Amino acid sequence: MNRRGLLAAACLGLCAQAAAFAAVAAGEGYTLRGDCEQGAVVFGRTDPAASVSLDGRKLLLTTKGEFVFGFDRDAGPQAELRVKLPGHAELVKHYTVRKRAWEIQRIEGLPPKLVNPPPETEQRIVAEAKTITAAHQRDSAIDDFTQPFMWPASGRVSGVFGSQRILNGTPKQPHYGVDMAVPTGTPVHAPAGGIIALAEPDLYFTGGTIIVDHGHGLSSVVVHLSKLLVQPGDRVRRGQVIALSGMTGRATGPHVHWGVYWFGAHVDAQRLVQPMAPGNRP
Ligand SMILES: [Zn+2]
Repeated sequence: MNRRGLLAAACLGLCAQAAAFAAVAAGEGYTLRGDCEQGAVVFGRTDPAASVSLDGRKLLLTTKGEFVFGFDRDAGPQAELRVKLPGHAELVKHYTVRKRAWEIQRIEGLPPKLVNPPPETEQRIVAEAKTITAAHQRDSAIDDFTQPFMWPASGRVSGVFGSQRILNGTPKQPHYGVDMAVPTGTPVHAPAGGIIALAEPDLYFTGGTIIVDHGHGLSSVVVHLSKLLVQPGDRVRRGQVIALSGMTGRATGPHVHWGVYWFGAHVDAQRLVQPMAPGNRP
């Protein structure tokens, strides 16, 4: 990231504070922790016997009444939270999801074969996308998402969430994760505990790919891996080494890409961790 990018990121961090759910719902029987803005993950707590939904999706509650939801990169402008406490009328809250500014990079004059995958790969890409989507749709009643998250690898942050390239005038899929530049063969750790929902050694775009289901629809994906050390269904602990890094799939250099999803919503993994420091990194 250049200096301007760093300044913009610093500002986004500050502005994010302003969009936080400050004393939201004090005395209304639930609390929320997180930012009300695009890419944010929000952790809530209420009476375990309550019923909670966001934009019509009913949320699982842990035995302590914890729940989680996220706002996609392009979410908004409004979100609707409904909370029904036993013996009370349903609360219906509307929140404005703050827009974030994303880094956009335009590149012209590229040879077409670098911009679009060759047509013979289309079937494979569609089939793989279905498998990935299914893994993100799991709604498991496990509470690993309530743990503090950690960086899956230590390294220079070489790519941030939400940025987008426009190649020869065609907008490509935004970048839905955070990249850590690390040499091939670096251990990759589970950012939080969970169940392995997908472990594929060779997907077209992402190469060696693992999805960890942290419960309640929140999942992590780590990609471009050179070696997988887990299988679908495995139970993993926070910090467990689940793979070795690499540059498999469409990667231009060795790095770990970490993305976080709340069901189909792409959320900003970096918002779940503090800047890299001992204690929250491997
Ligand atoms: Zn990436």
